[in-house]
Amino acid sequence: MNANDGGAGFGAKLFNESTMKEYVSEESFKAWQNCVRTHTVLPEKVTEDIADGMKRWALEKGATHYTHWFQPLNGETAEKHEGFLVPDGRDGFRMDFSGRELLRGEPDASSFPSGGLRSTFEARGYSAWDPTSYAFIKDKVLCIPTVFCSYSGEVLDKKTPLLRSCEALNRQAMRVLRLLGDEKTSFVRVGVGAEQEYFLIPKRLFRQREDLRLCGRTLFGADAPKKQELDDHYYGAIKPEIAAFMQDLNAALWELGICAKTEHNEVAPAQYEMAPFFTDANTANDQNQLTMEIMKRVADRHDLVCLLHEKPFDGVNGSGKHVNWSVSTDSGENLFSPGSTPADNTRFLLFFAAFIKGVDEYSELLRCSSAYAGNDKRLGGNEAPPAVISVFVGTDLEEVVDAIISGEPYVSTRDRSLTVGKDVLLRISTDNTDRNRTSPVAFTGNKFEFRMPGSSQSIASPVTYLNTILAEELKQAAEVLEASEDRENAVKALIRDMLKAHRRIVFNGNGYDKAWLAEAEARGLKNLKNTAETIPEYISEKNIRLLTGNGIYTRKEMDSRNEIHIQKYCSVNAIEARTMLEMIRKGVFGAITQYLSALTGGCGFEAKLREKVGALGDRLLEETEALEALLLSLDAACDPAEKLRICSEGIVPAMEACRRTVDSAERLIGKRFWPYPDYTELLFSI
Ligand code: ADP
Ligand code: MG
Repeated sequence: MNANDGGAGFGAKLFNESTMKEYVSEESFKAWQNCVRTHTVLPEKVTEDIADGMKRWALEKGATHYTHWFQPLNGETAEKHEGFLVPDGRDGFRMDFSGRELLRGEPDASSFPSGGLRSTFEARGYSAWDPTSYAFIKDKVLCIPTVFCSYSGEVLDKKTPLLRSCEALNRQAMRVLRLLGDEKTSFVRVGVGAEQEYFLIPKRLFRQREDLRLCGRTLFGADAPKKQELDDHYYGAIKPEIAAFMQDLNAALWELGICAKTEHNEVAPAQYEMAPFFTDANTANDQNQLTMEIMKRVADRHDLVCLLHEKPFDGVNGSGKHVNWSVSTDSGENLFSPGSTPADNTRFLLFFAAFIKGVDEYSELLRCSSAYAGNDKRLGGNEAPPAVISVFVGTDLEEVVDAIISGEPYVSTRDRSLTVGKDVLLRISTDNTDRNRTSPVAFTGNKFEFRMPGSSQSIASPVTYLNTILAEELKQAAEVLEASEDRENAVKALIRDMLKAHRRIVFNGNGYDKAWLAEAEARGLKNLKNTAETIPEYISEKNIRLLTGNGIYTRKEMDSRNEIHIQKYCSVNAIEARTMLEMIRKGVFGAITQYLSALTGGCGFEAKLREKVGALGDRLLEETEALEALLLSLDAACDPAEKLRICSEGIVPAMEACRRTVDSAERLIGKRFWPYPDYTELLFSI
């Protein structure tokens, strides 16, 4: 498929509604639709019919295998292929796929992270079909999106909590809508669009660097003489090699029903972005996982490598994943859209205020959703949102908020017919929110954009937390409203109280400004600078109450996730440290000695160079020994808090020290001695 065929191939590899209508009976199709809407169990006859339809469709498309496709806690996707082929009991075979196989799988999943939820003797995990998410064909495999849990029923994946959070939000939002007199809405839906940033570099260079191959990022590399200071890459003309990649990527995504919509060069050299058209949260999450996979494969076909790491190169921008998030009714009314009637505005303000309150009360949890080793290299830098959570709402809304808090009628200073008073219209056009790129959470007219997540991560947890936080605040709001006698005034008072109590989280200024950190502290906002500081917040009493109380996790599931977060953080740090040591010992030391021995001349210039490079070698030897010692102490440590500390206060700074020395050596040593492609080659070869 290409862009010129009128979209004929769009969704060609997706078992979507129109395909389903073709391949299953009308009765089964209706039953499936009903099941998706009401979350009821499908009768056996219907699952058999759907399985049969899926099989026929997949075989026609050339598939030979099927798999339950799931999203384990390592943040990746997993699949184990089963052939359709079974012996027919005579000499031949037949193609088999039953309703039971569609519904449930038993991958032997003992090696997926479970955070202690599953011991090896009961290693089996179960995967169960998620009928709300379309099956698709990847290579010659029919992929069936599934949830994944342990033998004893504990959730072992990222999709289930996301589905639960959508349901929790639906429940509480419906409750509030009814209290506001809405009798027509039957459910609310979460809309998500995840903008994906990435780097592309030539495969030939990638292969020459172990750090890229093992860690997904460069562990050292002196700055290229040119970085991004001319802003000439951002939105620049797309080079032919990259355009060819993007065309191929689009075609591959479209076939899977992923509506890749925008593409452009990002700020850093060799950095790009793709944004799909937004869709429901569950689908958006599946699609983003697939997008990351497809990006890597398509790059490979073009002799490129797609780097999804948050910070592949120091000194230039890192990559994020902006999660655009909104909530709308089944009839498509966006609840974060300021409306055209006073009643609509009350609804908007209530949802808006509830979310502001939620972000303030649960800022640590939002911070947790994006806290991991890779993102530590990006957040708080002069390019990504700071680690302090605040909400950007734009000047108009900020003035509205202040007017509501003070009880004064709102008079727009910019004459944009924005007035809030008793029953007065509030109109906020979607294009008047300033383009503040420094804020971790930004209101952008009719949705919030959560900019903290990193480019490599699954969006499931960030969206789960956004949903849950709003669900909780709506629940509390519903309780207040249910107890009130004069509902109309109670709503107004509630909006005012929420905004007043949580005004501190609203910040429209420049998040990169150092002064903001001081102001944030004065406002009592937390600055959880890195993963090690953030992880303990995950299992605070408050967060446990929030997540268990809304039915997202059990306490046990939270503990297991906590264990996995700590484990992963320590493993990533250890792998990076070991990779760095290996590269220094096998590559950098060799380069230094060869260079030194090439400097045989007796002239003063060579003597000076020898001295400088020799001193760097001495220092580097000491620094590597210090790093090695820290790795040993990490191995020996048992206490999770101690491990986190060794990583964040020991290994991370020790690696930074090694890096500084290596980079200084690289700047001095002749190119033919240096064993690795440098930043100029990596960033400016295409
Ligand atoms: P930008 O952030 O660059 O202004 P857009 O606002 O057009 O770009 O969209 C960015 C992403 O937000 C896209 O994936 C888009 O589909 C998604 N998006 C747009 N509207 C909504 C919405 N109401 N809910 C969720 N996501 C949305
Ligand atoms: Mg962007």
